[in-house]
Amino acid sequence: MNMQLRPDGSLRHLITLEHLSRALIERLLDRAQSFVRPLGAPAPVSRALAGCTVANLFTEPSTRTRVSFELAAKRLGADVVNLEVQLSSRIKGESMLDTVFTLQSLHIDALVIRDAEPGVPGTVASHVAPSVSVLSAGEAHIAHPTQGLLDALTVRQHKPRFESLRIAIVGDIRHSRVARSAVHIFRTLGTADLRLVAPPGLMPAPEEFPGCSRHTTLEEGLREADVVMMLRIQSERMAQADLPDAAHYYESYGLTSARLALARPDAIVMHPQPMNRGVEIASEVADGPQSVIRDQVRNGVAVRMAVLDEVLAWRRAG
Ligand code: ASP
Repeated sequence: MNMQLRPDGSLRHLITLEHLSRALIERLLDRAQSFVRPLGAPAPVSRALAGCTVANLFTEPSTRTRVSFELAAKRLGADVVNLEVQLSSRIKGESMLDTVFTLQSLHIDALVIRDAEPGVPGTVASHVAPSVSVLSAGEAHIAHPTQGLLDALTVRQHKPRFESLRIAIVGDIRHSRVARSAVHIFRTLGTADLRLVAPPGLMPAPEEFPGCSRHTTLEEGLREADVVMMLRIQSERMAQADLPDAAHYYESYGLTSARLALARPDAIVMHPQPMNRGVEIASEVADGPQSVIRDQVRNGVAVRMAVLDEVLAWRRAG
């Protein structure tokens, strides 16, 4: 999606990681890494984006993503406004654009959008004034680009050679924007062995995820994996009748210590959260020594700082 880039190749909007160059992704990851501090150390703060305003427009629930976009903007000195959009007045393309034009008139520089309807961040990006950037904070089941970046940053901190990694993505892949963005970024960074592990009903359509291997048992998919990425069942994106029974699911697809032993001994375990302990993951694994789930949360702020810094850098230059 070239509309994401400015003529000089810098990032203007972030809607999807697909088709972003490896150089741009590595630049964002390096910048994000510069914002990471050990737990207990003071968070990095700067005035780099002083005078800029970021609006969070979320029409789907969010905890980590919304809070971390807000913290990221504030730690760079920007002002933040959070719009409480009633889920009951379901946003349609047109009314979303009216809201966007209002925010634009109020001199908003970056608009962070989460929406359950496919296409909304891209539609908004194609209508805003040249001075406004649009950042997706989760688009339906389609994309969650800052999650993809924070996942890659987390992997890179433990296993920097993406080319040689075996990455297993496990669970409700069919409805997961996290899995789609993960596959885009890991591919761009050179990972060839990408495994999708899911029951047949949660596997994506055959034409999706080209080049990934598919496994319907954890035992097969986890073998010798370096990275195990667990996913939540996206119950909000499926009919009640299609929901797997939680206990039954855990029996076959829950990540327990015994199953994790099939992966490499130094494998890392990831989860985008919210987690359903005892459904897709056992507490002993979620809180265990191989889990990097809390690092993912910390890295989320750093990645969002890097993205805001990149898309609003022109403001500083001017
Ligand atoms: N928080 C992630 C998302 O917004 C994962 C999830 O909800 O399961 O997609």
